[in-house]
Amino acid sequence: MKIVNPATLATIAELPEDDAASIAAKVTKARAAQPAWAAKPLPDRIAIIRKFEAALLANKDELALTLTREMGKPIKQAHNEIGAMPGRIDFFLDATAAAVADSTVLREAGNGVPKLEETIAFEPIGVVGNVSAWNYPYFVGSNVFVPALLTGNAVVYKPSELAAMTGLAIARLLHEAGVPKDVFAPVIGGGEVGRQLVDQKIDGVFFTGSHATGQRISQQAAARLMKVQLELGGKDPTYVADDADVRGAAESLADGAFYNTGQSCCSVERIYVHRKVADAFIAAFVEVVRGFKIGDPEDPETYIGPLARGAQIGVLEEQVADAVKKGGRLLIGGKRMARAGHYFEPTVLTDVGNDTLVMRQESFGPIIGIQPVADDAEAIRLMNDTDYGLTAGIYTQDRERARTVLRDIDAGSVYWNCCDRVSPRLPWTGRKHSGIGSTLSTLGIRAFVQPKAWHLRGP
Ligand code: NAD
Repeated sequence: MKIVNPATLATIAELPEDDAASIAAKVTKARAAQPAWAAKPLPDRIAIIRKFEAALLANKDELALTLTREMGKPIKQAHNEIGAMPGRIDFFLDATAAAVADSTVLREAGNGVPKLEETIAFEPIGVVGNVSAWNYPYFVGSNVFVPALLTGNAVVYKPSELAAMTGLAIARLLHEAGVPKDVFAPVIGGGEVGRQLVDQKIDGVFFTGSHATGQRISQQAAARLMKVQLELGGKDPTYVADDADVRGAAESLADGAFYNTGQSCCSVERIYVHRKVADAFIAAFVEVVRGFKIGDPEDPETYIGPLARGAQIGVLEEQVADAVKKGGRLLIGGKRMARAGHYFEPTVLTDVGNDTLVMRQESFGPIIGIQPVADDAEAIRLMNDTDYGLTAGIYTQDRERARTVLRDIDAGSVYWNCCDRVSPRLPWTGRKHSGIGSTLSTLGIRAFVQPKAWHLRGP
């Protein structure tokens, strides 16, 4: 498999791909190795993951450069991602013991008959397949493999073909930290390799990626009734109310829309702004976007880099053409940049109704639609008018107004005066086309265990 730098289109590496036979062998070995891993005391597994965490930081410069070269993430943002890993991992290290502790829910005194005790215990699922995305490979990967390993599962991990070198680096550091090779096995390749992994006798599949692929995996897994968890895309809206701090909202939302070149599942993808402040907000927003530095992702000053996938440029061009045809106004950007690599100009469109592609289809690039609205009720109606349900937000000075609006929003995460934010302590969970199940929080630890109900009657 050729690894191509999206900023230069140069081939930077060639990796051997897995095939059905090698994947089957890895799954078989993982199944054989899993019971011994699960039998280790939890503090031993915690100590190993702690070593992995330290190794990430010790190798941060090299890891960040690899990520930047293979998927185009601006180097400062690659550093930010790796630098934020301890915050995530520490949560799992601290919270796992309590999340999977036995819980005795009934203890009846004997009084002449045998005593009755009822206990809920948790056991690992077994061998889990983790098919992962490229946009935040450290975050979305570790949301799965860290709690999976801590709770005693073996993991067969397929990084995205656009972040495969990062995937191999993660595997190497886990192995060096003490995770047995058969307990964490990377498989390398594209969609077909992912499909072959889901075909294996694994006990669960944890997927991060697009809705289309998630649906395919779900259908494939249904035949065997294994556990399926899906973290999918979004079309995340925000509403800027008429009492918002307009300049602050513009800065925050421009960052939320364009960070990682707009390639986040929780990127802000639609903005609704109250008519009373629409002109001021849009002017401030465009000014912030105009100031973004576009260029070589290896330059620490760069904020917008290339898209990881060249094919996405066609999607963005179509969104712009469709919006303009339907009466939208292009305020800045709108086309591919005249330079090598998959670059698209940061693009702002306004007067875009919910019938336009840019307000309906996940963009996953540096583009945003902004639509003025008359009141909170119209904002709520338009925000909910989507197939997705990952995140949504509001900017207002009024906490009660924020609560009232957000209560009516059908999304897994809601934000007041913030956006594009993930916390390890809160569940990361999508509704509708955004997914099934939760990662992060104690729910995202419980996702990797299965309950066993103990009914114990004895003297
Ligand atoms: P993708 O669906 O194209 O690919 C994801 C993974 O699935 C890759 O590893 C790919 O090789 C594999 N794959 C492709 N076809 C497969 C098949 N038939 N069977 C098994 N595996 C297959 O998505 P992507 O481009 O890597 O990621 C972008 C998408 O991921 C966006 O929609 C984004 O919103 C979403 N995402 C969601 C979250 C979240 O937590 N909700 C996080 C990051 C990304």
